[in-house]
Amino acid sequence: MKQAIFIASLLIALFGCHARRDEPPIVRWGEENCAVCRMLISDPPFAAAMVMRDGEVRKYDDVGCLLNESNQRLVNAHRLWVRRYDADGWLDARRAWFVVSQRIASPMGYGIAAFARKADAERLAKRVEGVVLKWDDVLRRAPRKPLRRREGQ
Ligand SMILES: [Zn+2]
Repeated sequence: MKQAIFIASLLIALFGCHARRDEPPIVRWGEENCAVCRMLISDPPFAAAMVMRDGEVRKYDDVGCLLNESNQRLVNAHRLWVRRYDADGWLDARRAWFVVSQRIASPMGYGIAAFARKADAERLAKRVEGVVLKWDDVLRRAPRKPLRRREGQ
């Protein structure tokens, strides 16, 4: 019986990733590396992920690192996920609201925070003198290089 459960969970591990193509990824915080900069992904409010059409999942410590993927990858991605800045959980990047400001201390210094509601994004933008953008504008206008590095890094 135990063996059957083991084999079943192995099958789920092998093929489950395909079935979960539409669900947000699971990140083992502090244990997995960013697909672009290779830093540990340990700061949930700034993390991002991309699910490719073949089921490949790429994870990032900073939304800015996701933006450094090739345009071809970004356009052809099956799903683009970003963590909520103001609460726990993931958002569909194509539906989220973003605040970009150099006063937002993200892990790699891109200064991008994601929100579910426009009003919440506007509130932070006011406080940090940032701009509120939708995903398409983030792709066009957000910095591809860090605005500043976090202190001590
Ligand atoms: Zn990174």
